Amino acid sequence: MTTQTQTNRLAIEVRDLRRSYGDVEAVRGVSFEVARGEVFCLLGPNGAGKTTTVEILEGYRTRSGGEARVLGMDPAHGQRELRERVGIVLQQCGVQNDLTVTELVEMYGRYYARRRPVDEVIELVELGEKRNVRARKLSGGQRRRLDLALALVGDPDLIFLDEPTTGFDPGARRHAWLTIRSLCDLGKTVFLTTHYMDEAQHLANRVAVMNAGQIIAMGRPEELGGRDLRPAEIRFSLPSEWSLGDLPDIPCEQRTLEGERVVVMTQQPVVAAQRITTWALDHDVDLGQFSVNQPTLEDIYLELTGSQGVNQSASAEEVVR
Ligand code: ATP
Repeated sequence: MTTQTQTNRLAIEVRDLRRSYGDVEAVRGVSFEVARGEVFCLLGPNGAGKTTTVEILEGYRTRSGGEARVLGMDPAHGQRELRERVGIVLQQCGVQNDLTVTELVEMYGRYYARRRPVDEVIELVELGEKRNVRARKLSGGQRRRLDLALALVGDPDLIFLDEPTTGFDPGARRHAWLTIRSLCDLGKTVFLTTHYMDEAQHLANRVAVMNAGQIIAMGRPEELGGRDLRPAEIRFSLPSEWSLGDLPDIPCEQRTLEGERVVVMTQQPVVAAQRITTWALDHDVDLGQFSVNQPTLEDIYLELTGSQGVNQSASAEEVVR
């Protein structure tokens, strides 16, 4: 599939991957690569084919066609060597509920020839205070952190994380993100699936968007779907005695009025904002709720997957070009 040098550089390599369930083509010719040390995030609506793709890479499902290499090995062959070097955190992990956190991490560690010290793993997922608590007494978020600990105890080179922060409170999510980032500092590769766009934005070096069994966009979160080239949106409200026509000349593609709020779409947000604020100060105009925004990853994702975004798509009542 590739040269030895590429294999050393790549954690995952997928070419024209296909999987059908009867008449349903769940994965229809998917190709991508994940470099070692990268956080790669697979996004997509329900039923897009993410779980099928991930489970083929994990060796839990067979493929109908195409090629796949994980750490240089074919996951369909189910080698022990591969299982030893891959950590998996599923959405729901069944563990023996009457064992304590320490007992469970120790037990899972025994499956691996290479393993990290139990205490170190428990500290990494910040369950130190719960080390002697039985799994059934942990909260939902703490259980997810235990799942992560169980995936890490074998010191894997590649970690699959399936919606790792579902059910976390905002503080716990931030902690989990720090933990995931720290895995990359240790040289690990992370393959993430999530429905949270802020999570993908925060963690991923690259994201791929899957829809109806195919990858429809791939790139760095800030560049996906030409996001970095899209116009910025400047919004503010004007006092009632002023109208859109009173504004100065602004470099923009479009300026519109949505209710009482002016919306300016511009490729030159710095110049446009400077003209607007200078005009407002010169004329003593009180601009309310002034903001400058680029389209978010969520805006781009919704656009790519055919859903209606909330930003940058509201119908305009008046357009002045
Ligand atoms: P979600 O975000 O809801 O988890 P997903 O992107 O992971 O969705 P998959 O679980 O891979 O999607 O499913 C892709 C398609 O394959 C769906 O149409 C699903 O109904 C179908 N499918 C998945 N597993 C099976 C199966 N074991 N038998 C038959 N069809 C299946």
